[in-house]
Amino acid sequence: MGFSPCEPFSLAVERLLISVTNMSAFPRAAFRARYNTYSMPRVYLDNNATTPVLPEIFEAMRPYFSERFGNASSIHHQGQDTRAAVERARESVAKLLNCKPPEIVFTSGGTEADNLAITGMAAEGDHIITSSIEHHAVLYTCKHLEERGCEVTYLPVDGRGLVDPDDLKRAIRPNTKLISVMMANNETGVIQPVEEIGKVAAEADVYFHTDAVQAAGKVTIDVNPIGCDLLSISGHKFHAPQGVGALYVKKGTRLQPLFYGGRHERSRRAGTENVPGIAALGAAAELALSAFERGEDKNMAAMRDRLQAGILAQVEDAAVNGGDAPRVPNTTNLYFDHIEGESMVIALDLKGLAVSTGAACSSGAIEPSHVLTAMGLRADRARASIRFSLGKQTTAEDVDFALALVPETVARLRELSPSTGSPIHRKIHA
Ligand code: PLP
Repeated sequence: MGFSPCEPFSLAVERLLISVTNMSAFPRAAFRARYNTYSMPRVYLDNNATTPVLPEIFEAMRPYFSERFGNASSIHHQGQDTRAAVERARESVAKLLNCKPPEIVFTSGGTEADNLAITGMAAEGDHIITSSIEHHAVLYTCKHLEERGCEVTYLPVDGRGLVDPDDLKRAIRPNTKLISVMMANNETGVIQPVEEIGKVAAEADVYFHTDAVQAAGKVTIDVNPIGCDLLSISGHKFHAPQGVGALYVKKGTRLQPLFYGGRHERSRRAGTENVPGIAALGAAAELALSAFERGEDKNMAAMRDRLQAGILAQVEDAAVNGGDAPRVPNTTNLYFDHIEGESMVIALDLKGLAVSTGAACSSGAIEPSHVLTAMGLRADRARASIRFSLGKQTTAEDVDFALALVPETVARLRELSPSTGSPIHRKIHA
């Protein structure tokens, strides 16, 4: 058995103790009481990894697990009932992106939407332009296509994390088929100049895909001024469940499907629809739109800014990664010199605060973040970086909790750090 990189430290310790002490004999409850793994207050500031399904969204999906269970392709009453739910959700998602409902293809999430967009457009001999800070759902799809005879250019970013549209212009070749540049970065929250990128793509008559998984529900999205042909979103990043997403496919864009089977989603995505998930995605889209109308994105930005400023006021040798660029309102990524991000995540988790070192599941990875190093951050600073990401459930008290914990945790970790040469460290290594 090993430590799963995505497992909270306390659970990993518990699993390890259970394995070495004999499963049945180990007093699980006693361990939980001693280490308070479930009863302590917990604050979750890792909403870019995933968000909780909000009660109203859960209510919207609940009937489709049981009493309203039909297959949306069936022609009887039960099937028509769920078909209507799928089409209602399609309208809601289309409103979120300001497109037409038939331009929405439901998928199993952001990864599938990205794969469908990229492998659906590019074939052997085609050239793709992407950026060096994309999510692995885009980067590894491009790598895979390189093995299949595509050429790929990975654009650099500047110190703020932004792609330069002039670099993009220069990278275009006669065989460039697709540009894929994300709308908002998952680690820093930095928003790319997608409208300028869209203009460059249109002038060159090249298809443009943008991964808007970390933008949807956080900032308003209108596919028309962006001028994109394809745009990916994922439900679990804005309070719908994991395992549902969508790809916007501009009318007239011909895509090679990923799967073969039934004629679902107008033959663009075979497979029986995930009706509860799709109903939830529709409800999440409606909730996001009404939250924009109430100005909740501005409240979120104010809470994020208070957290960021409060930490920086109390901690020296720390700074924001990407703080000079436009960002989604829920995210801040800070480096704290002389600490290891992984140790910080574990130390904070033991005190009840969930944050992250970067992309989910990169916890435990030894490599510094490809996003932060592409921004020119030194490897030690990239390793010392922590992402705080808020959700709609985040309260002012949650921010206070983080503000009380983070500075003291940084101070304690620095005392133990070899690079600060603290007395404790000198003693240990004497
Ligand atoms: N794209 C970005 C920018 C993401 O942050 C993520 C998930 O973290 C994905 C794609 C993949 O989405 P999903 O988890 O729905 O597969």
